[in-house]
Amino acid sequence: MSQELSNLTAVVTGGASGIGAAIAAKLQAMGANIAVLDLNPANLPEGQLGFTCDVSNDASVRAAIEGTAAAFGGVDILINNAGIGAQGTVESNDDQEWHRVWDINVIGMVRASRAALPHLRNSPAAAIVNTCSIAATAGLPQRALYSATKGAVLSLTQAMAADHLREGIRVNAVNPGTADTPWVGRLLDSADDPAAERAALNARQPHGRLVQPDEVAGAVAYLASPLSGSTTGTSIAVDGGMQALRLRPA
Ligand code: NAD
Repeated sequence: MSQELSNLTAVVTGGASGIGAAIAAKLQAMGANIAVLDLNPANLPEGQLGFTCDVSNDASVRAAIEGTAAAFGGVDILINNAGIGAQGTVESNDDQEWHRVWDINVIGMVRASRAALPHLRNSPAAAIVNTCSIAATAGLPQRALYSATKGAVLSLTQAMAADHLREGIRVNAVNPGTADTPWVGRLLDSADDPAAERAALNARQPHGRLVQPDEVAGAVAYLASPLSGSTTGTSIAVDGGMQALRLRPA
């Protein structure tokens, strides 16, 4: 992939860290203008336009998408990546927690899509890519809320693909396995022995190591570009074979 995205503009939510930052860097390397919508869009690479944005706030999302369109003359690609984790069972997470995480992980993608769709309709190469997770289908213990949000993202991806097919807007998802991002780093740092915990986590992955954010970005780059022009309503697993082997992260 080289300059497949030149003259196109991509919005990446949650693009200041981890998987989102790797996606923004990859799409930028392919020639796209990049707008990063993040709670904290500090220290972005040169050339990326940052917007302070909370995907759980509709006005904030709309302002950032309109700001992107004004700055670059349109929006061609939306990467719905912002998301947060949640641990627990249906008993341990109360209604307030369900609403809080759902508002970010699911409705955040709905808000950004709603704001971007009028611009995407004017694009010759419109694409939406949602960062889902293997949690959507794996039946993970202690992840009821998080898994339910990602299951919803998978359904949303398929339904939106159908709704916008004839408008030339493709909608796909990626399902990362456990990825080496600051989020996972924070979880490891809270362990008694972070180095031992990291080694154990690596060993539990089917291919013996964490997924690298750049590997997720590679799949997103494919789905976001005309290289995948006949692909919509589907998802790509970037999980070292976990889904194929019917394994689940422990
Ligand atoms: P991360 O915490 O490293 O980065 C997330 C980014 O999103 C941060 O920059 C944060 O500021 C931003 N963000 C959080 N809430 C936001 C909000 N309300 N509005 C705008 N921005 C917000 O996380 P990551 O590991 O890179 O995860 C990114 C996505 O990948 C998430 O959707 C997550 O569910 C998904 N994912 C992660 C993994 C993993 O193992 N790391 C696996 C599967 C899926």
